[in-house]
Amino acid sequence: MKKYDFLVIGGGAAGFFAAINCAEHRPGLSVGIFEATPRVLSKVKISGGGRCNVTHNCFDPRALVRHYPRGGKELLGPFHKFGPEQTIAWFAARGVALKVEADNRMFPTTDSSQTIIDCLQGAVQKNGIELRLKALVETVEKIGDIFQVTLKGGEVIEAKTLMLATGSATFGWSVVRKLGHKLIEPNPSLFTFEIDHPLLKGLPGVSFPSVTAELQSTDGNFVQEGPLLITHWGLSGPAVLRLSAFGARVLAATDYKADLYVNFEGRIKGDEVFAVLMNNKNQEAKKKISTVNPLQGPRRFWEALLEFSGFAPDKLWADANKKELFKLSELITHFPFRIQGKGAFKEEFVTAGGVARSEIDFRSFQSKLIPGLFMAGEVIDVDGITGGFNFQNAWTGGFLAGTAAAEMVSGARAEPST
Ligand SMILES: Cc1cc2nc3c(=O)[nH]c(=O)nc-3n(C[C@H](O)[C@H](O)[C@H](O)COP(=O)(O)OP(=O)(O)OC[C@H]3O[C@@H](n4cnc5c(N)ncnc54)[C@H](O)[C@@H]3O)c2cc1C
Repeated sequence: MKKYDFLVIGGGAAGFFAAINCAEHRPGLSVGIFEATPRVLSKVKISGGGRCNVTHNCFDPRALVRHYPRGGKELLGPFHKFGPEQTIAWFAARGVALKVEADNRMFPTTDSSQTIIDCLQGAVQKNGIELRLKALVETVEKIGDIFQVTLKGGEVIEAKTLMLATGSATFGWSVVRKLGHKLIEPNPSLFTFEIDHPLLKGLPGVSFPSVTAELQSTDGNFVQEGPLLITHWGLSGPAVLRLSAFGARVLAATDYKADLYVNFEGRIKGDEVFAVLMNNKNQEAKKKISTVNPLQGPRRFWEALLEFSGFAPDKLWADANKKELFKLSELITHFPFRIQGKGAFKEEFVTAGGVARSEIDFRSFQSKLIPGLFMAGEVIDVDGITGGFNFQNAWTGGFLAGTAAAEMVSGARAEPST
């Protein structure tokens, strides 16, 4: 029967990183990766629109953890050991240079996710790691000190240490549950908001550099700032994606129905906008309201807002009364929408939920319940917002798990802490 020192289930970012770092940390160990499908690293391939947003240009762990709606606290220690700085150096040492974009997302300079795949696959080969494709693991048991893994077809393999890097596949969660771990209900994160509202009709493609958006629900309120985009189905853009991540659980609980308030002028308050409108009434009295756009958004949006608010297209500033302008300033800074559903964000999505964080020792990403069982990536109840944070979680967990497993099997360190 084949027996590995370290066997990784799942050929994604976390699994590859764990296997490579285990093999590099203690050369000579027998390390394997079993992947259910005919292809590895398929999410890396499609990530970041085919460019792979590898990490984020943020070297302060305390700032970095704020981008994780779930797991930020637990990732603080791990990021001190292996964060974006170490990720950049790791890839650079293997010939892959990363570049920073204006919004601090980091991509390979080639702008191709294949560069990352080639790098990881090259490291697997170089380190003699056995990669098996179409190897669907069906059951995992721990008998004494040894893990027994059964593949579809009945083949049984043994491993001294085991890594579950099965991402958001239900398999990994059912395995850990059977092994006694608690599972936090999985829900999608990083999605757009479906909103059917007359104001948005005819405005798809219109964007705002910085709005404030507040999600209100009976289970809690969430506020995020950032760019906003009007789509054919509702609202998208960084402010909405961040809200969808921080509010993922609350939104799932309400079946994606909630109230959303948008301040189209960002942090500028209603009374300040009202003052600007009153000033226009005095200074621009003879001009049409529609031709003097006081907002950061485009004129198309201003005109649509005026129409929605009942202003005639050729009404002059002089003819607008104080009450109307006050109502308009309220709408600009506190526009009420009703979220009716969850839309797709094709560039990136992730699952909130997974193996309970309280049962994982984040120094090594080892189970507190089952010594020798490691987990990293999306299988754990950790997720980040869009911007390279989800891969960083996979690299960090993969690195710490792989090196800890290497030490464990070579006898340098023994048990996980509880
Ligand atoms: C479209 C898209 C774009 C994205 N873009 C980005 C981005 O640019 N930046 C970023 O940071 N994040 C991005 N993400 C998120 C990121 O891809 C994930 O967080 C990350 O891939 C998780 O890695 P993982 O190794 O935990 O899981 P996965 O990459 O999902 O890998 C899990 C692997 O396990 C295998 N597996 C499952 N069950 C079994 C089994 N029983 N036996 C054997 N193998 C099994 C699966 O087939 C899979 O290959 C994106 C996600 C999507 C969907």
